[in-house]
Amino acid sequence: MKSRVGFGYDLHRIVEGRRFVLGGIEVESKGRGLAGHSDADALLHALCDALLGAAGLGDIGQIFPDTDPAHAGADSAMFLKAVLAKVRSQGWELANADITVVAERPKLSPQFAAMRKHLASLLSCFEDQVNLKAKTNEKMGYLGREEAVAVYCVVCLEK
Ligand code: MG
Repeated sequence: MKSRVGFGYDLHRIVEGRRFVLGGIEVESKGRGLAGHSDADALLHALCDALLGAAGLGDIGQIFPDTDPAHAGADSAMFLKAVLAKVRSQGWELANADITVVAERPKLSPQFAAMRKHLASLLSCFEDQVNLKAKTNEKMGYLGREEAVAVYCVVCLEK
């Protein structure tokens, strides 16, 4: 059996008047959400990049450019499904994904059970193949000032 590792990173700014969508789940965040061309789901974008990276297939911006009006407000689950199809078409299957979200607020760990279940369903895998971790930035820098959310993701693919 062959295995490959991929790494993904994404960051979106937090602004007034946007939905806060992360891991395909809408999180209550007092009217402050993530800015972006699509639904700005930084977690799904980092996950897509990790999957593409492991399979040697480039990055999400090459497949879904943020200059394409067709992707305005897009549900990032659609990106993930397309990326998974590409990765699986090369014979790869997900072994596991390990995801770290850096956000001062909102507190995300209470959402993780629902988010993990949702991610497992999007990825057609078991919940124990998807791990979620939440960190604050100790109130330091732009993450600490609640100006943005950053996500790091590592995946392992097998075939
Ligand atoms: Mg993004």
